[in-house]
Amino acid sequence: MTRLHHHQVARTRLLSAIVLAALAVAGAAAQQQRPRIPPTGTIKKVRDNLYVIPGAGGNTTVFVTDGGVVLVDTKLPNNGEAIMNQVRTVTDKPVSTIINTHSHPDHIGSNEYFPASVEVIAQENTRKWMAANPRVASNAAAMPDRTFADRMTLGSGDDRIELYYFGAGHTSGDAFIVFPAHRVMAAGDLFAWKMSPLIDPLAGGSVLALPGTLEKAEKGIPNVDTVIEGHGDVNTWDGFRDYVRFNRALVDAATAGAGKKTAEEIAAELRPKFPVFTKEELLTDMEYGGTPLSRAVINVNIAFQELGKR
Ligand SMILES: [Zn+2]
Repeated sequence: MTRLHHHQVARTRLLSAIVLAALAVAGAAAQQQRPRIPPTGTIKKVRDNLYVIPGAGGNTTVFVTDGGVVLVDTKLPNNGEAIMNQVRTVTDKPVSTIINTHSHPDHIGSNEYFPASVEVIAQENTRKWMAANPRVASNAAAMPDRTFADRMTLGSGDDRIELYYFGAGHTSGDAFIVFPAHRVMAAGDLFAWKMSPLIDPLAGGSVLALPGTLEKAEKGIPNVDTVIEGHGDVNTWDGFRDYVRFNRALVDAATAGAGKKTAEEIAAELRPKFPVFTKEELLTDMEYGGTPLSRAVINVNIAFQELGKR
């Protein structure tokens, strides 16, 4: 082995260790903060028949259609009743459909609360990751009944829903859920907390693929002006576009700076242009620990690691 090659291998190993340590810290923070995860919150109107329920994991989008209530994501386990208590404040219609944006437990956790007659829909890779989890796979009511590869249309007219898949990012199964008549999109964890997304390599996630996936969504999804983030706030399409630019800039800077600059230096250089996504303060109600800046540093380190494997 040449010295240079040896150095590369050592560097890759070191970076793997850094990324694992960073994820372990984030995991430990999540453990410590678990009692402080806010419970299922109060339902908020986004449009006349479209709402979001915050808290207890990922946001739950509630879409009241002629054929019943469509839920996008079901929070952590044991929140089914709390979700329904909120839904009952706006409609008496039964839940007909659950759409899962991706396979993480804070988005699919309460699928099992709903009767097996409720249709569960997810992107095909998301079904694969759910099937790989024995706790989820052993419960038929929790598992997707229908999947799609790139596109799926549900309903028609004002009730129409468009599901889109553009590639890997947070996982390899993240779907965008669009309500075209209402110009609203639920983005799942490809856009959450206005900060660099967590990358889950064990579910096919990739930080190098992320900007391309987001750019395809920006180009391929028409006529949206309101974006419901996977966690946290409701944002605008312009806010989403800025976030796409930020993730592209982060990966480009990591690619150009690999072996020359530290992840901290690269993240710091992104701050003047992208202050919203690189704040140094902890955000209110953020469940998983870390500031936006620290999450940017983690994603630069993950980019270094993925570049080393290419
Ligand atoms: Zn997630």
